[in-house]
Amino acid sequence: MKNVNYSSPEFEKTYTYTGADLGAVWSEKETRFRVWAPTAEAVTLNLYESGTAGTEDLLEKISMQPDVNGTWIAVKPGNLNHVYYTYSVTIDGKEKEACDPYAKACGVNGRRAMVLNLEETDPTDWENDKDPHAAERITDAILYELHVRDVSMDAASQIVNKGKFLGLTETGTKTPSGQPTGLDYIKELGITHLHLLPSFDYGSVDEARLSEPQFNWGYDPVNYNVPEGSYATDPYHGEVRVREMKQMIKTLHENGISVVMDVVYNHVHDAESFCFNILVPGYFSRIDANGIYSNGSFCGNDTASERSMVKKFIVDSVSYWADEYHIDGFRFDLAGLIDTETINALIAEVEKKHPNVIFYGEGWTMPTNLTKAGYTMATQLNSDKTPKFAYFSDTIRDGLKGSVLREEETGYVTDNFETTEQIKKCLLGQADWCKSPSQTVNYASCHDNNTLLDRISINMPNASFEEKVARNRLAAAIYMLSQGVPFLQAGEEILRTKVDESGNFVENSYASSDLVNCIKWKTLDEKMYQETLAYYKGLIRFRKAHEELRYATAEEVEANAKFLETPFAYVIALQVKKILMVFNPSMEAVEIELPEGSWDVYVDAEHAGTESIKTIVTGMVSVDAISAMVLVNTAL
Ligand code: CA
Repeated sequence: MKNVNYSSPEFEKTYTYTGADLGAVWSEKETRFRVWAPTAEAVTLNLYESGTAGTEDLLEKISMQPDVNGTWIAVKPGNLNHVYYTYSVTIDGKEKEACDPYAKACGVNGRRAMVLNLEETDPTDWENDKDPHAAERITDAILYELHVRDVSMDAASQIVNKGKFLGLTETGTKTPSGQPTGLDYIKELGITHLHLLPSFDYGSVDEARLSEPQFNWGYDPVNYNVPEGSYATDPYHGEVRVREMKQMIKTLHENGISVVMDVVYNHVHDAESFCFNILVPGYFSRIDANGIYSNGSFCGNDTASERSMVKKFIVDSVSYWADEYHIDGFRFDLAGLIDTETINALIAEVEKKHPNVIFYGEGWTMPTNLTKAGYTMATQLNSDKTPKFAYFSDTIRDGLKGSVLREEETGYVTDNFETTEQIKKCLLGQADWCKSPSQTVNYASCHDNNTLLDRISINMPNASFEEKVARNRLAAAIYMLSQGVPFLQAGEEILRTKVDESGNFVENSYASSDLVNCIKWKTLDEKMYQETLAYYKGLIRFRKAHEELRYATAEEVEANAKFLETPFAYVIALQVKKILMVFNPSMEAVEIELPEGSWDVYVDAEHAGTESIKTIVTGMVSVDAISAMVLVNTAL
């Protein structure tokens, strides 16, 4: 089978399998296996007692029979629930063993797949579980990005299931001084969607050594359709992680919170040992004629989404999470390495049963070597080709506080008023690369790079803490009131900082300790932190209360939004129907002339919310230094 061109029309015509039964399909009386391995000379199904690779507990080896389109099948009578399995493929006379790319459960570290009756993992009343925000649009969403461990690892969280999916099911948890933590805290914050960092089975944490300190963000996929074992109370028994992740999702839904999964289809943990690449050598990854891996991901390999069976795999995988786990949204890591055809195909497939599901991702343009011509990548610049997919706006992120690539650079909230025009476009949800608010995710910080407060501290080391907080709040007010989809990194609202043992800011904490990464719940005992939390909550309530801030289309924005004259170019005043928002990034208070009428103030330097702070009747209003003011016309 040497020199096969996997991307040739002939290969794709002969070997594209379109059925829905890849993997192990369990029933009480038999389990049916189907694997795609078109270049194999022979395929064997290995059944094992346990999920631990290397254990001498082989139950049986079964020769699989070649079937249509390069697939191989086997049927094993009897109830195989909880039996582990792998495939051995013989290619060019050499035999290699691999996990099933379509594994739905697996043993420790994801080396062996497990046959599973998925129904036994369903929480009570799972059939009635639904997305609490199903009827809403993406611009109604408020996205909150969290790592599973970060919410519970701090002792002050008083969460019992530390670092586990189940940690997000605990209610009534409080700091020693009585401030809510964990799920209660997130619920009170008022966000709509909890976006969890990778929760599928990833490779950088050893699930067999969980008593030792380990941390990783998890952007290194091993089994795409299986939950991560280190987040389960038992990574050895495949059903446990499935049950506990479903329980977490159900509890979040019951508490009014939708769940977004961070998915990483653009690359795998290790291309050579990735099961799909063992079963069909090199098929899953972009490799050139000289055997060189494309590396636009900067993680060693790029996924060949343009190949028919990779495209099918990604579509099947996303659909599976939506169907089986009731996932309400997907955040794509480096969508710019995945072709627009695959992105649109997966959205179309998920939408058939789940029109509520939202899609967004990183649309940076990355250097990648496609294996076929004629494809465009899902980047910001191609956003018109993926109308139902939103992209992170680095335009607002960097406009607010300076480019993440140049630490010394400042932005609108850190005394650099050159970005004023950029910020004005972002307030309308119209960065240069996209005019649709439904396709624009607005934010100031995420897991990558310094936290918002740390970045402000780096650029303004001599500013007082109060001043830094004011700059942080101004940034929050701008992206929370912008047209588009607001997003925040968990803890930004309580001035999260990532500092190592020596007191240095950590810019990339992907493998840092829990101490660097976890949410520090004790800070909630301090007044400035409580007040900033209250301010964020108020901004969230205000956004939710006003549909004028959540237009889905550029046409609605253009018809209803207009900028007003201000005394200084860097002071922005934007009126959207009855709402007037003013942003003053300078060190001096500024007087603004209000349009005709009576105006209620809902947001100022200190407060934000849905209760009027004061009423101003026609005339001038003073907007404090480094602050936002939001007013609502009482007559309109
Ligand atoms: Ca794992």
